[in-house]
Amino acid sequence: LQNFHYSHVLVLGLARSGTAAAKLLLANGVKVRVNDRDTADDDQVVKELKEMGAEVIVGSHPFRVLDDIDLIVKNPGIPYDTPLMEEAQDRGISIITEIELAGNLAGNSVVGITGSNGKTTTTTLTAEMLTESRQPVKVAGNIGTVACEVADSLAPEEKMVVELSSFQLLGIERFRPKIAVLLNIFEAHLDYHKTLENYRQAKFNIYRNQGPDDYLVYNADDPLLTEAAKEAKSIKVPFSTSQRLNHGVWADESFIYFKNEKVICLKDIVLVGKHNLENILAAVAAAKLAGASNEGIRKVLRSFSGVEHRLQYVGKVKERLFYNDSKATNTLATKKALASFNEPVILLAGGLDRGSTFAELKDSLQNVKAMVLFGETASKLEEFAEEAGVQVIVKADDVHKAAELAYGISGEGDIILLSPACASWDQYKSFEERGDMFIQAVHKLK
Ligand code: ADP
Repeated sequence: LQNFHYSHVLVLGLARSGTAAAKLLLANGVKVRVNDRDTADDDQVVKELKEMGAEVIVGSHPFRVLDDIDLIVKNPGIPYDTPLMEEAQDRGISIITEIELAGNLAGNSVVGITGSNGKTTTTTLTAEMLTESRQPVKVAGNIGTVACEVADSLAPEEKMVVELSSFQLLGIERFRPKIAVLLNIFEAHLDYHKTLENYRQAKFNIYRNQGPDDYLVYNADDPLLTEAAKEAKSIKVPFSTSQRLNHGVWADESFIYFKNEKVICLKDIVLVGKHNLENILAAVAAAKLAGASNEGIRKVLRSFSGVEHRLQYVGKVKERLFYNDSKATNTLATKKALASFNEPVILLAGGLDRGSTFAELKDSLQNVKAMVLFGETASKLEEFAEEAGVQVIVKADDVHKAAELAYGISGEGDIILLSPACASWDQYKSFEERGDMFIQAVHKLK
């Protein structure tokens, strides 16, 4: 750790990131106290940390865990308005998240990616583009290994591409990505951040410490981000799906360009959806700045079929194309999926009933020629679909049956899309399990 001036650190929360942070600090000779409410005293992790020299307090959050502490490494999920965190702020104790430690170790090697939506897709794309360009890279954050663990084992020439949440970004002091990517900001997580402005400011932390040698990649089609980028000290690299950008990455109807250089023909790209085009442009910018080649980028975009369960291309059976968007657990996500296709769509939807009327989907059904419905909301969706004028409406017992029924009523060139607009827990353990069942059904049809 460089210029690390803290002597006695409290690690709050023993999830994956907290455990990794505690071990890292201990290995660097820092005095560490660990506090977690839910972990038992005889837990394997507790034993390990004690053996490494940590003081461990579990079962509750007494204020005495703050005594003599000059820094807290907080799990990003812990809000700032708990009694313990308020006491810590009253005592003037610095509070960071594990990402600050990762940044300290990784120095100039960090490509940081944030936004309300598209983080995982953009992070995955960027890393793959670098890999295909033979640039050594490791992925960290939500997808992959804990950032400070990755940073600790980073080779000198290796880059770390890290997906960053607003919660992580709130807890930084000097964290400074060499390349920062700001995708978009929608209203989200207001339970945690209280106001939209707080949430925005947390996201803007991604460029707060950048200097004139760093890069900020941002969405130039978003006026708010364009305005915010003006205050960054870094070199701006905007991206846009609607305007020519001589200093950025952009697309017209046929090509993607980096500045004025053609990178790839749009029809060679497997990934669908305007939102994914934004993610692609951001990834192209970040990857190019980090040293990727056009060949490497093209290779990825010609084969990358999407992150699992996010509008993922599953395959083709007798000229019908199957897409798995099981992650779409609300109507907004399903709207986005439907907007991605011009072909006739057979939509597979349904799941846990959270009281939605699905009325928001009404304007998105132009291409939907049939709906196959399952789960708790099947009858509600049926009523909605009838009212909206959908021609063919079928009910199925589960996703497997729904895929078979959809195939049975489909024609050549149709899109068969699982985008349920509902959570999965009425019938499945998770949206992953639901998506996997769909994929299995498609493979069986093959
Ligand atoms: P995150 O990691 O930020 O949750 P993902 O890449 O996992 O994002 O995508 C999750 C969902 O968010 C997608 O299925 C899609 O519905 C939506 N989405 C993805 N990228 C964008 C984008 N650039 N703009 C708007 N929505 C998006």
